[in-house]
Amino acid sequence: MIPFYDTHAHLDYPDYEKDFPEVLARAEAAGITKIISIATDLDSSRRALALSEKHAMIYAAVGWHPSNAHEAPADIRAELRDLARHPKAVAIGECGLDYYRLPSAEGGSADDDARYKQKQAEIFQQQLEVASELKLNCVIHQRSSFDDLFMQIQPFASQTRGVFHCFGESVERLQKILSIGWLVSYTGIVTFKNGQNIRDAVAATPHGKFMLETDCPYLAPVPYRGKRCEPAFVKEIFETVAQVKLCSLEELSAATCRTAHEFFPKLH
Ligand SMILES: [Zn+2]
Repeated sequence: MIPFYDTHAHLDYPDYEKDFPEVLARAEAAGITKIISIATDLDSSRRALALSEKHAMIYAAVGWHPSNAHEAPADIRAELRDLARHPKAVAIGECGLDYYRLPSAEGGSADDDARYKQKQAEIFQQQLEVASELKLNCVIHQRSSFDDLFMQIQPFASQTRGVFHCFGESVERLQKILSIGWLVSYTGIVTFKNGQNIRDAVAATPHGKFMLETDCPYLAPVPYRGKRCEPAFVKEIFETVAQVKLCSLEELSAATCRTAHEFFPKLH
């Protein structure tokens, strides 16, 4: 069987509470051999690590999502460092900036927006620092914030690397990311009818510069669109990407597994 990795899943979410063993069994039956469970805050990091201790195929990324940054304590570095030293903590994240839904969209003021962005930047900065210190790479969440984010990573670009997860930007932005040696990863959006811009980006991304992911429970690929997503569905994403890249599933599996091991050295 051809092995596939799901490099971005949220297995600690309550969505899987009822049928977790079946979700893992379906993943294994589809050939998925490794899953990285991505955390969204420190509690979620602990849950992801607990899953990684229980299941050989599961690894964790530990970190704090920008959309929850306003709930973070002033300094998460000490706790994050401890969590990141776990043998199965393969990355920091997901971390970054998300300006998609600012407080002003819900009646807040311009000052509220500035404070919200400032807290996101602080929590992101702390994660870039810890990643650099511990020589780990980062799983990057970016939404409507590309220029600020790209500026903030500059001082760290030679100390850590990031993968821009759920990449959905232009080919020009893709080139910017690749030019500093960072990577992208693609989700089930690549299978959507209206996902041609993503397929164009995939076509422009060389092997070795991208990985594939479900971002489950979100973004189920066609033909499961609209349903709860799960790691088994990463196979549909591989099939579409193989068609776009005009390569075999075997080649795509080998290239993306190699990229994952190189980017996440603690994956074994
Ligand atoms: Zn995610």
